[in-house]
Amino acid sequence: MANDSVMVIVAHPDDAEFLAGGATALWTRDGKEVIYVIVTNGDKGSEDPDITSEELAAVRRVEQQQAADGLGVAKVLFLGYEDGMLEPSLDLRRDLARVIRTHVPHTVVTFDPTVRFITDNYPNHPDHRATGDATLDAVFPAARDRLTFPELLAEGLTPHKVREVWLGAGSRANHWVDIEPVLSKKIAALKKHESQLAEMDLDEFIPQMAKDSAKGSPHTYAEGFRRVVLD
Ligand SMILES: [Zn+2]
Repeated sequence: MANDSVMVIVAHPDDAEFLAGGATALWTRDGKEVIYVIVTNGDKGSEDPDITSEELAAVRRVEQQQAADGLGVAKVLFLGYEDGMLEPSLDLRRDLARVIRTHVPHTVVTFDPTVRFITDNYPNHPDHRATGDATLDAVFPAARDRLTFPELLAEGLTPHKVREVWLGAGSRANHWVDIEPVLSKKIAALKKHESQLAEMDLDEFIPQMAKDSAKGSPHTYAEGFRRVVLD
């Protein structure tokens, strides 16, 4: 990856678009390389009694690829963990350190793992917390330190120091991206996740969400992040 590249690490197909679809559209528009890492296969997200987990995972993989294509994402990596069962395990930390060392991103975007409740009515999904925790731990210190996970070194993967981590879906934003110019791209990408969001009025919901996220910033529509610049 180029030295200004971005890796977005999330739990489920559709998370990346909610979390940073606007920022992603702007980064790729400006020529930055963006890679998505989708940790679980999303195989639990359906009320349809006629669909199996395997079928659902296949559908969601296609939807995620189409959404990413619409935003100009260079590559989507699917780690294939089981939806709803994710733990911030050492295996997950190693897998994430592996993709970070392989693709050497400048910036990693993920969930703020400290968020227990998104709103008073909406507990944060355990997979989101696990992904945020495992990603932070993979960035620092696992991907950076030579002697951590020596098996990665044996695979030829030398240490890599990520420069910035952007934590989204949190309440402690210190950095906002003005997504007004790409709001329609974010909405179009989310509409690709038909198996999940067909019932939702995204043309209404996403602008409102972006307005709420912009509070505290000079923007009308934004994605907010807690931006952590590593020493
Ligand atoms: Zn999710």
